[in-house]
Amino acid sequence: MKKLEELIQIALDNKENSYSPYSHFRVSAVVETKDGHIFKGVNIENASYPVAICGERSALAGAVSAGYKDFARIIITGDSKDTYPCGVCRQFMAEFFDQDTEIVIANSKTDYKTYTMEELLPHSFSKKDLG
Ligand SMILES: [Zn+2]
Repeated sequence: MKKLEELIQIALDNKENSYSPYSHFRVSAVVETKDGHIFKGVNIENASYPVAICGERSALAGAVSAGYKDFARIIITGDSKDTYPCGVCRQFMAEFFDQDTEIVIANSKTDYKTYTMEELLPHSFSKKDLG
């Protein structure tokens, strides 16, 4: 596992890869698996606006596509102070995260807040509801 400050720096640097020509609002996410692999994601917009994907989901899509589904934490950073995940991403993360998986909302290596999945999406609908 990398140090949190290292992961935050990777996420901050990765904002440069955001494809956000319409909103000019960059988001970057770095997800770390429980065995120490990291996957980066950015928001990717589209001329057909609803087609866009958020940074959190693009990071998780890369990880899941590579065969990883056990996550320790995700670092999220964007162009606003305290860029929180949208509702769609919270539901997407809840599919793979444990209730205590850490979600770090980072502005810098020294300015960040850490939440659990349960805190950001309490009482969520999940696969356990499907029986
Ligand atoms: Zn989102």
